Amino acid sequence: MTSSFSNLSLAEPLARAVAEMGYETMTPIQEQAIPVVLQGKDVMGAAQTGTGKTAAFALPLLQRMMKHENASTSPARHPVRALVLLPTRELAVQVAEQVKLYAKYTNLNSAVVFGGMDMKPQTLELKKGVEVLVATPGRLLDHIEAKNTVLNQVEYVVLDEADRMLDIGFLPDLQRILSYLPKQRITLLFSATFSPEIKRLAASFLQDPVTIEVARSNATATTVEQHFYSVSADDKRRALHQILKARGMKQAFVFVNSKLGCARLARSLEREGLKTTALHGDKSQDERLKALEAFKSGEVDLLVCTDVAARGLDIKDVPAVFNFDVPFNAEDYVHRIGRTGRAGASGLAVSFVASSDQRLVADIEKLIKTRIELEPLEFEEDMPRISEQGRINDGRRMYREGEEGRAPESRQPPPRERTERRERREYTPHRQPAASRDPFFDRPYEPGSAPAESLPSWEASAKANPAHNGVSANIKPKKKIAALFKSS
Ligand code: AMP
Repeated sequence: MTSSFSNLSLAEPLARAVAEMGYETMTPIQEQAIPVVLQGKDVMGAAQTGTGKTAAFALPLLQRMMKHENASTSPARHPVRALVLLPTRELAVQVAEQVKLYAKYTNLNSAVVFGGMDMKPQTLELKKGVEVLVATPGRLLDHIEAKNTVLNQVEYVVLDEADRMLDIGFLPDLQRILSYLPKQRITLLFSATFSPEIKRLAASFLQDPVTIEVARSNATATTVEQHFYSVSADDKRRALHQILKARGMKQAFVFVNSKLGCARLARSLEREGLKTTALHGDKSQDERLKALEAFKSGEVDLLVCTDVAARGLDIKDVPAVFNFDVPFNAEDYVHRIGRTGRAGASGLAVSFVASSDQRLVADIEKLIKTRIELEPLEFEEDMPRISEQGRINDGRRMYREGEEGRAPESRQPPPRERTERRERREYTPHRQPAASRDPFFDRPYEPGSAPAESLPSWEASAKANPAHNGVSANIKPKKKIAALFKSS
């Protein structure tokens, strides 16, 4: 098997771009997928983000499209030939950036379209003619309906992060988009897991796909040091401060389960002196890109984020990931900690486990098939206790009273665009919490073994967890001002 890019006989402009990026050896997913895609076969690939899967599909697709390459400025000579669909705008931007880099020495054009932004600049790009179109489903449908793009010459479709697209509820949009495309095409599907829903999707839209699974989709990188600390909800911020200090860490991702919690925590940490920004689905597109840039440039140290906003973000060398909240969905644990310890670097993943989180931890144990030991966290004496309201144990206020509790959501309503609405759903529960410690650990992980999974997630979640007042059934009603009266 070939493992060097030089053995692939890529067209010179592509080989040059790859060399310029400093890649010599293919990653396992590239090694397996590139030859298969070059042969024109459909692929069903399971690979964690950070494995190099973008190049695994982008390079062979660009290579196959080289025969259409031309220097004409006529849009008609640059029809959309490859369509890459992704669940979130951040992922779309990231993949589009990579495609642009791989195609930079070719005359193949690429563009990205996603919701939450004015359609006009995107329309202008589309009208110029693009061979590779990277898109989120909702916004792509908007452009199709506005006749800004025609997809009748699409030869290649990539459904990236397909499991997440289904979780977000994009199935109807995907079905519509795929109905506009020629039947004769190559379809590649990438997903973190091959759940029953994903298998159904593949059965509907892929033809005799070659299955490629480079590493267990639910495995966590061995280079990540994982800790689960038993910490009460009230002590989580103090624990975060202490671990950052003890480890001398500068940058970290801090994951929370809700948009409201995300905004609140970011504000609290900022007040406590940590350079922090929030990334969640209700942030405007501009704010989200700025938050990301600020983190990438080192202007900001902590990025407090929700799962939808952070999934698959290609930010390398994040030394630590904190699960301030244990994720409701065990698979999100794997995705979250995939931000650290990437490409062989060592990383740290710390989860704060409150007593009510035990069953969620049991779910993670099952998924990663690793026994999790809950560790106690000893607080240092100079680490003051910080209450929910920012009061430290000597009575000093850390910030003005009344600042907490108002979510930015109420001040800044999000854009009401349809894609934005779809992408605002932060979490779709689809797995019932499982009982802890049982012989299940001795069996290989089988997606679909949980009872709710006999139904597609979007149906099962609605049945199992009917929302009340628009709030997930998994979210407990908030305790009233208890923290204000808490003793140190
Ligand atoms: P992805 O999984 O596509 O998000 O890629 C993760 C990161 O790995 C990206 O920053 C890529 O630029 C980088 N990458 C992709 N292929 C290789 C390779 N063969 N060698 C080293 N880095 C790579």
